[in-house]
Amino acid sequence: MLARDPLLRRELPAAAAMFGHIGNVRVRAWGTVGGNLALAEPAQDPPVLLTALDADVLVRGPGGTRRVPVAGLAAGPMTTVLEPGELITHVAVPRPGPDERSAYLKFLPVTADDYATVSVAVRLRVAGGVVTAARIVCGAVGPLPVDCAEAAALVVGRPTAEPPDVSEAWARVSGGAGYVGDVRVPDALHAAFVYSPWPAARIEGIDVGPALEVPGMVAVLTADGVGEIRTGRALRDYPVLAAGEVRFAGQRVAAVAATTREAAREGAAAVEVDYDVRPAVLGLDAAVAVDPLHPSRLRRLPRRGGRPARAQRAGRVAPRRGRPGRRLRRRGQGVRGRLRRGPQPRRAAGAACLRRRRV
Ligand SMILES: Cc1cc2nc3c(=O)[nH]c(=O)nc-3n(C[C@H](O)[C@H](O)[C@H](O)COP(=O)(O)OP(=O)(O)OC[C@H]3O[C@@H](n4cnc5c(N)ncnc54)[C@H](O)[C@@H]3O)c2cc1C
Repeated sequence: MLARDPLLRRELPAAAAMFGHIGNVRVRAWGTVGGNLALAEPAQDPPVLLTALDADVLVRGPGGTRRVPVAGLAAGPMTTVLEPGELITHVAVPRPGPDERSAYLKFLPVTADDYATVSVAVRLRVAGGVVTAARIVCGAVGPLPVDCAEAAALVVGRPTAEPPDVSEAWARVSGGAGYVGDVRVPDALHAAFVYSPWPAARIEGIDVGPALEVPGMVAVLTADGVGEIRTGRALRDYPVLAAGEVRFAGQRVAAVAATTREAAREGAAAVEVDYDVRPAVLGLDAAVAVDPLHPSRLRRLPRRGGRPARAQRAGRVAPRRGRPGRRLRRRGQGVRGRLRRGPQPRRAAGAACLRRRRV
């Protein structure tokens, strides 16, 4: 809507074009500008151009309405200064003067709906063919849009027909900017993981001793130390650290925390894992044969018709076994219940995981 808006196209063609190139048509049709700004994702487009254009948002909340500059809305990646209950209701962009021009460019790595690898918004005031004021803001190069005042100063006072000599640009850009990967939080530890090289194996033992000797090492965690923490989107059936067995190549087996990134990586490499390698379970049918569908999934199978039910009747999916929902109830009893019962046999719900992965 914004990309086609006649007023925006006339007054701020760079903004209309920028809105027309966010993600893809589905993202644009669904997303809102307020949602985009409130998300505060460092590689998004509108915060960069709207910062260069000195835009404000109007925020309405329990305490009334207030005006926040877009430049000050994000407090960090995925974080804003909005208070609970506050909603962005308007975006106010100053009408550009007749001597103003703006542009927005983004570099996309692969496809048109990727997030920008780097983006730049430029706003100039030009009088008599000479730049009288400039604002340059870069996106995706730090946790927040970066106001490049030094770069802007390079073009002020120059005729637009004579772009500045950028031969020194490399010196200016190498090291000056903070990239997302360079963000350092004081006293934060660095983590690294030990990944299984095998798709199926029993873990016979983990020797964390060599890792603990790496200078700067703070902790080495395995499933024995953290307990059986399970995670997952639809089903919380995925152990954060492999417990007793690995079920796919690349599964996390141990985690290390160290004072530097290098120490963390060195420590992870030093952890010695003794695997008893088993034949890999490859393919949907083999996975279901080893471990049928997760009980909660079985409960969702349609009674009549529907693909899963037909597949079950045709014998392609293992039939329901045991009392449905039993495992779920057990899980629901929480940590205390598990401790009382002692270690349970781990019939990992890998089949469900594998199904989702393949889909
Ligand atoms: C495939 C894909 C590609 C994308 N590519 C790009 C891209 O190239 N460039 C780009 O900039 N973005 C891109 N995006 C991000 C997209 O623009 C945002 O996801 C979208 O703008 C979010 O808007 P929404 O209205 O759906 O917000 P939601 O996702 O509904 O909300 C995001 C957050 O903001 C809060 N929120 C929503 N509306 C408001 C409001 N009015 N006031 C206060 N808080 C609010 C919500 O509570 C939530 O916390 C992409 C997203 C996808 C999925």
